[in-house]
Amino acid sequence: MRSAFGRIPLKFTIWIYFIGYTIIVFLLLWLFQILFLEKFYTQSKIRGVDEAASHLIYSYENDSGAEFSELLTKEASKNDLCIEVVDRYSRSLYTREYSVDCLIHGRGNSIYHYQEKIENNGNQPIWLKKPNPHNSYSMVLFGCALGDTDNPSGYLFINTALVPVGSTVSIIKQQLMLITVLLIAFAFVVSLFVSRQIAKPIDRITLAAKSLAKGNFDTKFDGRGYLEAKQLADTLTYAEKELSRVDRLQRDLIANVSHDLRTPLTMLKAYAEMIRDLSGDNPKKRNEHLEIIINETDRLSLMVNDILDLSKLESGKQKLTPSEFEIRSKLSDIIGRFKGISEKMGYHIHFIPDEERVVFCDSVKIEQVIYNLINNAINYTGEDKQVYVRQINRDDGIVIEVEDTGDGIEADKIKLIFDKYYRSENHKREVVGTGLGLSIVKAVLKLHGYDYGVHSELGKGSVFWFRINSIDVKDARNVKDVQNHDEN
Ligand code: ADP
Repeated sequence: MRSAFGRIPLKFTIWIYFIGYTIIVFLLLWLFQILFLEKFYTQSKIRGVDEAASHLIYSYENDSGAEFSELLTKEASKNDLCIEVVDRYSRSLYTREYSVDCLIHGRGNSIYHYQEKIENNGNQPIWLKKPNPHNSYSMVLFGCALGDTDNPSGYLFINTALVPVGSTVSIIKQQLMLITVLLIAFAFVVSLFVSRQIAKPIDRITLAAKSLAKGNFDTKFDGRGYLEAKQLADTLTYAEKELSRVDRLQRDLIANVSHDLRTPLTMLKAYAEMIRDLSGDNPKKRNEHLEIIINETDRLSLMVNDILDLSKLESGKQKLTPSEFEIRSKLSDIIGRFKGISEKMGYHIHFIPDEERVVFCDSVKIEQVIYNLINNAINYTGEDKQVYVRQINRDDGIVIEVEDTGDGIEADKIKLIFDKYYRSENHKREVVGTGLGLSIVKAVLKLHGYDYGVHSELGKGSVFWFRINSIDVKDARNVKDVQNHDEN
């Protein structure tokens, strides 16, 4: 069933439901109005007699004669009933006549005869139904004993007339026929219109989605019509934007990677050829060229490592492996590693530490962040070649700042520098880099949920910072414990 519906167009499905619903409504209407009308009518009339009888029996036993007489009038007029109450000798005590043709008051009818029937029935109630000889009505008579059933003090008789429903049914039938034809025609048109209206935006969006699937990233999704269509169109527009971004990034990535790989590879080939053809026999020249080859190879492996790190981080496959370590020692460790090379070239890294704190995060990855930031600061700092690294313990965590005295970064570029492969061209010095360092910083800090940012002033330098959340910082007491433990 489901698979069959899966192949039927929405328009048609809605139309079928609509028409089906209308047909069911009319079927029910026909059943109740035509087929069961007589049955319902008779039942309701008999129920009326039954209720009146039980009220009267109760009142006969509990109320005064005047109250009983009042109730008798009320019940008779409420349901158009003829009522007769007689004593045990069939003498009339109370009478209410609604129709002269009734089985009580009509000619040829005898209360005594009915009373006998009740007595023969062990004083249990009786029901009689007879057609009225003067018209097409039927008469229904109810009779029962009053008081003690072994020795009744009187008898109650109630007559109700059953009007023939045949003529009413035929009028309703004609009306229903007309209404059915009109409404089915109306339902047909309305359902056709509604189903088209509902299906139209979906058809439109499906067509647009096919075009998107072919790679047209400027496809417009038109969700006019109703809320769900609009939501679908919005979702697809968002998906399209994301797909086109991924597509662009992928193309940029391939372009950048191949460009960045080509330069060192060309150099490697050129210098290897030079050694083969020219400098092979000249040890000084040969060493110079070999040095260049080694540097370029380093650059290549640096780049390949960065690409791998970043793709692992961004794929979401890279999980954090947090551990406890001392942040101040870690900072001074990293700075120590830079000092060897950088000081030979005249750079000076100032470390401004705060009290030692034990932090709980991925030591290797946070080390990479600090390393990348210091490496950039050295690369981009000013002529004075000064770099400042600060540890600032605060209530909301530990802020690590890396400051340089370089050109600074223009405000509109700050948003871009954390993007993959963004490299500004306006630096005074030629800096060896892959354009991936800050993307790795961003990916690692995002994975940790740490805030980060840059304050930069053109001509004065930049301060790159990030904050290890307070939840990942152990309090000072713990640190002392660790230190004491170490000292022991
Ligand atoms: P790379 O340094 O390899 O180019 P990064 O992702 O580390 O790649 O940096 C991206 C860009 O951000 C750099 O090309 C540079 O223009 C800018 N940048 C990074 N750090 C600094 C800094 N300390 N001062 C000025 N500009 C910087």
